[in-house]
Amino acid sequence: MALPASAQVLVVGAGPTGMVLALALQKNGCPDVVVVDGALQGENTSRAVAIHAATIEALETIDCADRLVKEGNKVKRTTIHLGRGEAPIETAFFSPLSKYTKYNFILCVPQHVSEKVIGTVAEERGIQVYRPHRVSDMRPNEQDPSFTDVIFEDGHVLRARAVVGADGSRSAIRNLANVRWADPYGQVDPNSKDASLANMIIADVTFANAPPSFLQDSINLVVSPDNALLYITLPNTPYPDQTTDTVYRVACSIPDELGVPPSAPDTEYVQMLLDRWGPNAVLPEDAPRVQVTQTIWSSRFRTFSSVADAFLTHAPGKTPDAPAGTGPVMLIGDAAHIHPPMGGQGMNLGIRDAVKLAPLLAEYIRAASASTSAPTGAQAESLQAPLKAWAAERRSRALTVIALVKDLQKMMWIPNKRQYLLGFIPYNPGWMRNKVLRFLTTFEFFRANAAWKVSGLANR
Ligand SMILES: Cc1cc2nc3c(=O)[nH]c(=O)nc-3n(C[C@H](O)[C@H](O)[C@H](O)COP(=O)(O)OP(=O)(O)OC[C@H]3O[C@@H](n4cnc5c(N)ncnc54)[C@H](O)[C@@H]3O)c2cc1C
Repeated sequence: MALPASAQVLVVGAGPTGMVLALALQKNGCPDVVVVDGALQGENTSRAVAIHAATIEALETIDCADRLVKEGNKVKRTTIHLGRGEAPIETAFFSPLSKYTKYNFILCVPQHVSEKVIGTVAEERGIQVYRPHRVSDMRPNEQDPSFTDVIFEDGHVLRARAVVGADGSRSAIRNLANVRWADPYGQVDPNSKDASLANMIIADVTFANAPPSFLQDSINLVVSPDNALLYITLPNTPYPDQTTDTVYRVACSIPDELGVPPSAPDTEYVQMLLDRWGPNAVLPEDAPRVQVTQTIWSSRFRTFSSVADAFLTHAPGKTPDAPAGTGPVMLIGDAAHIHPPMGGQGMNLGIRDAVKLAPLLAEYIRAASASTSAPTGAQAESLQAPLKAWAAERRSRALTVIALVKDLQKMMWIPNKRQYLLGFIPYNPGWMRNKVLRFLTTFEFFRANAAWKVSGLANR
């Protein structure tokens, strides 16, 4: 589809965050929003499966929540399975969140289904995506620098009053604006557990002998001394063309000693993970072996944490503080922050970036287009002040989530072997963690508090 020559807002990237932003801008009465994507078609893979309460509330504002809830499984708890013969530990319990939200659960729905729902609503509202149009450059408009010229690979130039980079972790918009992208808590120690377990695989599979102790309304995590494997029951029909059987999501880190995992692990590989680090490693010896019968989708990826130094910048953005009066360029979603999938927070944070930005950006467009001349100096600064405040707040939200994910990983990777305090007092940190966790989780308050943290309600 041929691109227009101008737009009030140009959204680069039609992943979940870009589409949610387009819908939310429309809801806030923002005219002339153009969404572009470099790919010929949308991604059609399962990836993120957890949608948290704060995000469902955000999606309610753009009329996507009810349809999504219908498509997903409502997960009520998270459970850790620690070892053969040991009772599982329920670590988070979501029902008590009913005091704060009607979405007192984690909604489990594969990303291709969420994107389909959001895309359908967008289509019904007349929002179209211009494809395939890949951004390759960006600079302030020469006549009026309060606009940005965005240049596409085919040479087309689109003049926009505001640009939003929702173009994923390798964001061209972020790179063109020269925004620094780094782990906010410093480089990961190459000898650490985080580094050695950075390769992950995820797979959507069917099973024979799915174990009843791995509850369907729970996110299950098998924590063994040297790894952790995630096991989630997906909603009934995420792949209607491939199977009518129940589909499960398995995710597992791959230690360095196993080498780089295959790009699309097959049934045999996933079975090896289940036997070594999954249910087959913790179920009683006489329990039937959980067997992978079909691998519907699988992928490998490398996890890392990174955050953009500025979520509000300007083209060409030599520094985050380009002259006021230059057209605003914002980053949302994976373009702004990324971290390992522990806790399932990534897409959630991005969707909330978008919903929070929309009313402020719509107001900016209204005010800036009402001005008869290009705003400069103090006037431009005051126009962009709400966007600046949004950028600072969203960055701080991202830092909180990244810290939470790192804490969760630290807790999982506590070594489960004998160590010596002061060189001679033996202790086992993993064993102690398990005992403390088992004791604390007997209190509903503790489990509800864990659910509260994961839900995003305190970090919308
Ligand atoms: C293999 C894999 C597994 C994952 N698993 C999980 C998980 O288990 N849990 C979880 O929470 N998250 C997971 N994620 C992350 C989750 O998928 C992302 O957080 C989510 O997709 C981010 O959405 P987004 O809209 O910000 O970016 P994206 O979904 O990456 O969308 C960006 C869009 O921008 C377009 N684009 C890129 N560059 C340009 C350009 N120059 N010009 C125009 N368009 C461009 C792309 O084509 C793409 O459509 C996973 C990701 C991957 C890759």
